Amino acid sequence: MKSVIYRITGLALLTSLAVSCSKDSVIPAANPAAVSQSADATATRESNLAMGNPSGATTSTTNYTNYLLTKSQFSMSYHRDRGIPNWVSWHLSSAWLGSTPRQDNFAADATLPSGWYRVGSTSYSGSGFDRGHNCPSADRTGSVADNSATFLMTNMMPQAPRNNQQTWANLENYCRTLANAGNELYIICGSYGRGGTGANGYATTLDAGRVTVPARCWKVIVVLPNGSSDASRVTTSTRVIAIDTPNDNTIQTTWGSYRTTVDAIEAATGYDLLSAVSATVQSTVESRVDAGPTS
Ligand code: MN
Ligand code: MN
Repeated sequence: MKSVIYRITGLALLTSLAVSCSKDSVIPAANPAAVSQSADATATRESNLAMGNPSGATTSTTNYTNYLLTKSQFSMSYHRDRGIPNWVSWHLSSAWLGSTPRQDNFAADATLPSGWYRVGSTSYSGSGFDRGHNCPSADRTGSVADNSATFLMTNMMPQAPRNNQQTWANLENYCRTLANAGNELYIICGSYGRGGTGANGYATTLDAGRVTVPARCWKVIVVLPNGSSDASRVTTSTRVIAIDTPNDNTIQTTWGSYRTTVDAIEAATGYDLLSAVSATVQSTVESRVDAGPTS
């Protein structure tokens, strides 16, 4: 019964969108098969950097500490000498979600500039830290190519197993719940500091010093109903979730207890997050701690 209602409302929505907003109606209105796939027929894939470039990363191959690496699945600032990203930014909507299984094909990233050390699939072996995805595997299930991109080692950070598999995973799951409910999300996450506590205790580096173990893992999430011109649709009432977690195996599993402000993450990292959003809106949403549901 529910799906019938979705089909009817979805068809009505598509028909009206085909008239008013051709940019977003990528599915022809007269295609009942497409309509029946989802109640959320207007979800699209949009720019992974629509909320801005937090650190002013550039593609100069001598920018060793703030190198802009762009893939169709996500964008990042990579730090050659830490062997991990500073931050990774991506768009999430149901348009990115499909049925491709987890590929588990961890691999060095051959697109790094020549001469740069390439962290390998076994670089974290025996360290007591997980190969923790920044952009999660399960956010990119539309194709084998999309999912495989998330397994590039440039997308990984050494993450305490309990943080990665519980706290972080719970928030990742919640983000997909929001996407499947008709929202689109802009997610920016990263890590900072040096030294964490994994399954084998405290460490500052692994892979003979070529990969830094971060002290903290943070994430900022902007939640919007599906639509276009997203940066300009962020208002003072838009839900923005920010968390900052210790990279420590004693972490609590409830991500909600690590909520903080975007301002605090900006102060800790020196970045300007959500820089594509108007300054007045930023000042409001970045100084507020989210108090919304956590599942
Ligand atoms: Mn959009
Ligand atoms: Mn900002």
